[in-house]
Amino acid sequence: MKRIVILGATGSIGKNTLSVLDGMLDRYEIVGLSAKSNIRGLIETAEKYHVKTIGVTDDVDTSAVNFDGRILKGKQCLTELCDLADIVVIAVVGPDGLRPFIHCLKNHITVAFATKEAMVYGGKILRDLIDETGTDVLPLDSEISAIYQALRGNDKKSIKEIYLTASGGPFRTWDRDRIASSSLAEALNHPNWSMGRKITVDSATMANKGLEIMETRWFFDVDPSLITVVIHPESIIHSAVKYKDNSVMAQMGETDMRTPIAYALNYPDRVENVSRELDLFSRTPLTFERPDLEKFPALKLAMEAVRAGIGEQIVFNASNDRAVELFLQERIGFYDISDIIKRSLDSYVPREISTVDDIFAIDEQVKALVEDVTRGM
Ligand code: NDP
Ligand code: MG
Repeated sequence: MKRIVILGATGSIGKNTLSVLDGMLDRYEIVGLSAKSNIRGLIETAEKYHVKTIGVTDDVDTSAVNFDGRILKGKQCLTELCDLADIVVIAVVGPDGLRPFIHCLKNHITVAFATKEAMVYGGKILRDLIDETGTDVLPLDSEISAIYQALRGNDKKSIKEIYLTASGGPFRTWDRDRIASSSLAEALNHPNWSMGRKITVDSATMANKGLEIMETRWFFDVDPSLITVVIHPESIIHSAVKYKDNSVMAQMGETDMRTPIAYALNYPDRVENVSRELDLFSRTPLTFERPDLEKFPALKLAMEAVRAGIGEQIVFNASNDRAVELFLQERIGFYDISDIIKRSLDSYVPREISTVDDIFAIDEQVKALVEDVTRGM
């Protein structure tokens, strides 16, 4: 039996992971779960899977809660939970996934990660730690899983281009004026994927693809110039790698996160029918477009940030995180998100970043700056 912990168990990836694990409980024992504040949802899940240790990162009042087990509290509960496991699924939203990620690497605990913000912040620190420790790390994000699969059995030095595919989100066919006056509900109406609210807004702005460029750059340690974003509205090809002989390896499937999750949890084996099956004949034609960087300025800013360096990546993500929160509260408009990112990047003065504390110092400063800029909006 492998012991597994799920960080972010009450979320979209968390629930999809549990759905995959339903068919694998003869091989996996779920020993820990976390949420931010949803203690009720967490206890319900813990009881269903007989999990004895749970953690909430917020300071939730648990005095009246009835749970036959241990409840850990505060951000450090994420690393404490990791110690119970052979494999940890990191599926929290945002950079708080970074510290447990590092903890697992240092302690040789296998990581299956969805939280792209952790890779965006960790960048070279994470990449170096993965190499130094040799700890197994498997991607859950569908595009990163696709690239991982397309690279298997091939020489990384032969990569000519990585096609990072994107659906284009709900505003792909809208003009800029219409997008500018879009509502929150329209931004949350993703055409293909059902996901958490934050990443759904990121898909509408295409900041999500920007974060995935950064994730790809560091997880596979490739030069950003090799990464090309391709709009593929049908979301059947999840990404592809072109090699120097002009052969292109693509990974395809239905838009079902259980496919990459099952791949990671069974790696290197494949299991039967855990997710929806692709029928190519019912999914034609497959189409491809170049992204419109005027309509999606967040993607353009991300491309500039990844070329500039890790500091700029952190600024991009920190300002986007805070701006999306404000957008979800309907305090700012759609294009205010990219305006805020741009202002934050423009005011960033590059500095030395060698520790996790350096990373979170920038995160805090940027979020405070966004707070100042948007007060009264
Ligand atoms: P959800 O919002 O659906 O779920 C997030 C989970 O993490 C919940 O359990 C939530 O707890 C918890 N959480 C939220 N914020 C924090 C925090 N600051 N610290 C600790 N725990 C936190 O998100 P998703 O499942 O959609 O996404 C999770 C991650 O996976 C993101 O980084 C996203 O970019 C990435 N991803 C998601 C995909 C998807 O299909 N959903 C696809 C590819 C990547 P609570 O319920 O209490 O709020
Ligand atoms: Mg993705």
